[in-house]
Parts: sequence; structure tokens; C-alpha cells
Amino acid sequence: MSAKVIAVADHRYRASAPLVPERLVAPTGELLDSLHRPLRDLRISVTDRCNFRCSYCMPKEVFDRDYSFLPHSSLLTFEEIVRVARLFVAHGVRKIRLTGGEPLLRRHLENLVAMLAELRSADGDRLDLTLTTNGSILERKAAALKAAGLGRVTVSLDAIDDEVFRRMNDADFPVADVLRGIDAAERAGLGPIKVNMVVKRGTNDQEILPMARHFRGRDVALRFIEYMDVGATNGWRMDEVLPSSEVVERIAEEFALVPVPASAPGETAARWRYAQAGVAGEIGTISSVTQAFCSDCNRARLSTEGKLFLCLFASRGHDLRALVRGGASDAEIAAAIGLVWQQRDDRYSELRSAARPQPPTGEKRVEMHYIGG
Ligand code: SAM
Repeated sequence: MSAKVIAVADHRYRASAPLVPERLVAPTGELLDSLHRPLRDLRISVTDRCNFRCSYCMPKEVFDRDYSFLPHSSLLTFEEIVRVARLFVAHGVRKIRLTGGEPLLRRHLENLVAMLAELRSADGDRLDLTLTTNGSILERKAAALKAAGLGRVTVSLDAIDDEVFRRMNDADFPVADVLRGIDAAERAGLGPIKVNMVVKRGTNDQEILPMARHFRGRDVALRFIEYMDVGATNGWRMDEVLPSSEVVERIAEEFALVPVPASAPGETAARWRYAQAGVAGEIGTISSVTQAFCSDCNRARLSTEGKLFLCLFASRGHDLRALVRGGASDAEIAAAIGLVWQQRDDRYSELRSAARPQPPTGEKRVEMHYIGG
């Protein structure tokens, strides 16, 4: 018998049902947290499963055959997701990103997309509805997702060299299939496409320039993400982080770059375009380790089983599913969300120190595949 202890799925991260205030204040579309940050962006994890085993996210040694993923009954249903999402939108959310795990592994995801596409912001506008995927089955799904109302996609791709890519995903998955997925998304009109590469020094940093060369000239924003200390399973070390400044230096040695001003507050990436006239494409860097961007973080995360997390580095969530399945009214759930957000003071990345703060004993930091990247 295996000696491995498997957490009871529903209780793998601490979360209690948020308090429903006695006086139910209706959403106004403008909710500020205790550091005056508005709520604008909701990331929804639709599954905790993934067909890749990237060592920085779901290492094979931990997420193996014995690992118990959430049972289907724990997952929020599409109807529950939309109900909760609608309340977030009433509070000011304008952008919804579906993520996971690998979101395209959730069956009939296009049905959820179609339901979310019906929502309108507090100002009556369409939402910015997007999806982050590893691209493995995007070729098959792109047209249906577009038809359902998805606006655009972000594809994660950590190398253009097939051997390096197979090693990174640790599932022996070929790069050609992901590239076909990107092409299919472009053809379907799911652009402008973002391609995200997590850079791990000594593992795939030699792929920075080949990736830039590959996507230069295409209407694609190629973004380099600093390897982050999220979760508790990836064995993160600071010396494996390649600072974004170095990424930009390496690219600029071959291609002259011009900075692009931020297009929206709370934008996570610093951006550059190619200086050469008429050359399409963009470079971005997401420096969550070397340059924290907590001060304008406007993101909330809804986990696969309906827990609200206020920070990627949180160890505790707020169990909205308990309210949803416990018979709370929309007004009560909305008021509870409002109160949670108003009390939010998370700024983990800013407080990150060389000593890498850990949550109090007995609590582990939430894994990214569970709350969504
Ligand atoms: N499966 C989808 C995908 O591959 O895009 C969505 C979920 S994945 C958790 C979302 C993003 O988080 C991916 O771009 C992934 O590379 C990134 N990510 C995961 N762990 C990370 C880490 N430790 N540091 C930086 N980015 C990470």
C-alpha cells in the first residue's frame, strides 16, 4: 500500500464561507479594496487537470498516477460559474479569463464560453472574454470557441525547439501541434494572440531568441514570464529566475526594440515593439519576481471548486461554493464578495524577501493549476 497521504479533495486548501453582511449593499460596479485597487479581472479555473507536467507547475513526481484530482461533483457547474461570474461583473469585472489546469480538457467548454459571452459589464459593454491554454488541442477547438463568443486566446509555449519543448512539458508533447493550434486560433479570429513563455535559467533560456525570431513579423505578442515561486511543489530557486531585464537585453542585441506604453491600468506586462518599420509583433515581459506589480493588481481568482482567492500566492480562499450550494441569494453572495474585496490587502510579491515568506505552519500555498494562472 502506498504511504502517500492524499488530502481530502474538498479541503485541500483552507477556506471558510465568507461572511454575509447583515446590511446587503448592492453592487455599484465600482468596488475598491483596502489599498484602493478596483476589481476588474476575474480568472476562473475550470479544471485542476492538465495533460502536461511542466516541472515549474505540475511536476510529475507530485502529480502522478496516485494524485487525486478533484471529483467532478466538487467542480462548479457551468451554471454555478456563470451565476458567480455575473455577480463579479456587477461589482466591476470587465475581463474574464478561463484557465486551469488545462481549460480545454473541461468537456463542452464552448458551452460555458457561450453563457459567459452573454454577460455585460456594469456599463453595458461586452466583456473581454479570454482563455489561457497550453494549445495542445486548440487546433480542434479554435473555431467552436470563436463561434461561442470567445474574444482571444493566450497560448503557453516554453520553447520552439521540439526537444526542449518536450522536456519542458514532460509529457513528450510535440511543439508542432501547439504551433498548429496557434495558427488555427489566428485563422478563427481569436487574435491578437499572446504567447507566454516561462523562462527558467539553465533550462530553456537558450530559447528566448529562437522564440523571438519565430514570432517576429506576426501579429503575436510574445511574453516572457519570470519563473515564480507559486505553490509548494516546484522546488523554486531564485537562481533559476532570469530577470526580464536580461531577456530584453538578449533580444535587443539582435533586434532593436521600442517601448510601448501600457494600454490599461493593471497591465501585467511591460511591452516593446520591433523598431524596424513595418515589422509586426510585440515583446512583453512579466516580471512578477523582480518587479512586483501588486500596487495595481485588480485580479480575483475563482478556483475549480468555487473558492475565491485574492492573490496568486495566497494560502487561504473564501468558499463561495458553500454559499452557492447553501441556498444564499444573489444579493447575499454579491454582498459577501463585496466585503471580501473591500478587506483585501494582499501584496505578496512586494513583500517577498530573500527569506521567501511561508504561510503559517500547516498551511500551504495554493497551487497554480488549482486557482488558474
Ligand atoms: N494549462 C494552461 C496553460 O498552459 O496556459 C492554463 C493554466 S497555466 C497554470 C497558466 C500559466 O501559468 C501558463 O502560462 C504557465 O506557464 C504559467 N505558470 C505556471 N507555473 C508557473 C510558475 N511557477 N512561474 C511562472 N509561470 C507559471
